[in-house]
Amino acid sequence: MKLTVLGKYGPFPAAGGACSGYLVEKENTKVLIECGSGVFSRLQQVCPINELSGIILSHLHSDHMSDIMILRYALDSWNARGLREDVPVPLYAPGNPVEEYNRLYYKNVFQITPIHDGMQLKIGELSFLFQEMTHPVQSFGMVISDGIKRIAYTGDTNYNDKIVPFVRDVNLFIADTGLLYKDKTGPGVPHLTALEAGIIASKAEVEKMMLSHIWPGYTEEEVVKEAAVNYPDAFIAREMEEYII
Ligand SMILES: [Zn+2]
Ligand SMILES: [Zn+2]
Repeated sequence: MKLTVLGKYGPFPAAGGACSGYLVEKENTKVLIECGSGVFSRLQQVCPINELSGIILSHLHSDHMSDIMILRYALDSWNARGLREDVPVPLYAPGNPVEEYNRLYYKNVFQITPIHDGMQLKIGELSFLFQEMTHPVQSFGMVISDGIKRIAYTGDTNYNDKIVPFVRDVNLFIADTGLLYKDKTGPGVPHLTALEAGIIASKAEVEKMMLSHIWPGYTEEEVVKEAAVNYPDAFIAREMEEYII
């Protein structure tokens, strides 16, 4: 599989950066995971929109889906000009919050399916397994497989006991690292800390761990250092870098 990190920041991008967005490819299958602020522009540098096999949104916070509102205009105007085959792009997202889910509908550009806990999905050469996580809105982690290698992605989540068994032994673990331990103000925070991400990676014995969903005010050094206490090889996602898994 090939993974391109299109954006790694949340809940807003650093100057010149983008919010959450990952392109996962296997042969001609190209699936966009998340479409936050700045992702659609970056996507077009590596994948023409008529080559997208599908789109998955872990949850409906704007830092994960705001550029869907723009991507749909692109699909619609390509359709209107006869530049692409007028078929809807499969889009998978949580059904809640309902008002956000309903905003995804636009003409006939997407074929939208709600994600549910334990759902399995196949898009071309890639398969997906979803696990509901812990976040202020319904949010799903996912394990992506090409039948040989596996990538686990947490989406946005607080720490919970389901994560370690869900991501066990994966080849790449992409962890929400939205907080440092010093900023974990209580048990109900919406993100993992770098410390927790390292603990999960270590317990689950993942092959590699990528830290993502970085708050722009942190230095990358302090985020990596905190995760490395428990998982020494932790590394920060690099925008527009291709990773072969
Ligand atoms: Zn987020
Ligand atoms: Zn969120």
